Amino acid sequence: MKTISKLTPSIGATAIDRPKPVCGDDDVMIQVLATSICGTDVHIYDYNPWAQSRIKTPQIMGHELAGKVIQIGKNVTSPKLGDIVACETHIVCGTCEFCLSDQKHLCRNTQILGVDRDGAFAEYVVMPAVNCWISDPKVDPAYLCIQEPLGNAIHTVASGDVKGKTVAIVGVGPIGLMAVDVAKALGARWVVAVDVNDYRLSLAKEVGADLSINAKDQDPVKTILDLTDQYGVDVVCEMSGSPRALTSAFSYIKKGGRMSILGLPDGPVSIDINNAIVFKGITIHGITGRRMMQTWELGQSLIDSGKLHLDRIVTHILPFDQFEEGFQLMHEGRCGKVVLRVTEG
Ligand SMILES: [Zn+2]
Ligand SMILES: [Zn+2]
Repeated sequence: MKTISKLTPSIGATAIDRPKPVCGDDDVMIQVLATSICGTDVHIYDYNPWAQSRIKTPQIMGHELAGKVIQIGKNVTSPKLGDIVACETHIVCGTCEFCLSDQKHLCRNTQILGVDRDGAFAEYVVMPAVNCWISDPKVDPAYLCIQEPLGNAIHTVASGDVKGKTVAIVGVGPIGLMAVDVAKALGARWVVAVDVNDYRLSLAKEVGADLSINAKDQDPVKTILDLTDQYGVDVVCEMSGSPRALTSAFSYIKKGGRMSILGLPDGPVSIDINNAIVFKGITIHGITGRRMMQTWELGQSLIDSGKLHLDRIVTHILPFDQFEEGFQLMHEGRCGKVVLRVTEG
C-alpha cells in the first residue's frame, strides 16, 4: 500500500509502498479516505529534538483520519463493515487507574497513532474498534478527518464554561482557529484572537473572532485591558506554545479567570507565580488529548448544529502524493488545516 513514512532518523518524509497491516481480533481495518497534517507531523518531518527522542524508524506517519471500515476483527460488534469513521488517535490500555476512573486521556500506557506506532498517512490503517467514531457518510471525509484536532480545541475551550464569557484564543494555527469557532458556537460573548500571523488572524475573523490582535504590531495586554475596563478576559486558551504569549496572557486574564493550556513551549517557562496566579486567584488547566469519548460527543453535536465553519478551517485539500506541498504550507503558516485525500470515497 502507498504510505508517507519516516524511513531514517533525518529530516523529511518519503512516499513508499509498505505492507498492508494485519487486523487483530479487537481491531478494524480502515481504508483511509482523507488524512490531515498536524503540527506533530511537521515536528516529525523536521525531526526536531522531541521527534528524535520519540520516533522509531521506519514508521508510517500521520494520525488524523477518516475512512471506511473494510474488515473487522472477530470480537468487534461496532463499527460495522462499510461504516465511515474518524479515529481517536490515543490508544489506551483500558486497565490502568486512569482508564478505570474515566480519565482515559491520561492513560499511563498511551500509544499515539503515527508517533508510537504506524500511522494514517497510508491507504490502510488498523485501529482498535473502540477508537472509531462512526461519522456521517454524507459529509466529505476531508472535514471528518479533522474531528481529532477539533477535539483538542473543544477539550481546551470547554474545560470550563464559556457561555456569556470573554475569551482570548492565543495562537490561531489550525487548532486555535477551531477554538475560536468552538468558543463562539458555545456562546462566548466576545472572542479575541491573538497571533503574529496576519493570514491566520484574518481566518480567525472569518470564523467569528470579534477582534484580532497581531502581537507584533499591537500590545495584547494594553489592548485587551483597555477594552475590558482593565478587568481582562474571563478565559484564556493558550494554543501557541510561545513563552512570550503565555506570560503576557497572565497580564490580561481577569482575576478568578480560567486558563487552559494546550500549546507546548519548547522548554521551561518562567512565571511570576505570586502575581500571575496566586493573587489573581486563577485556575489553570493542562489539556492533553480528548476526553474519551465525551469530547467526541460534544464535537458531533457542534458539527450537527451547523455552527462550525469547517470549510473555512480546511484551507487546502491536496492529493496524497502532493504531501510535500502540504508540509511546505504548514512550515510557512500560509494555511489553516491541510488535508490529503488518500482514496476517493
Ligand atoms: Zn494531531
Ligand atoms: Zn490506561
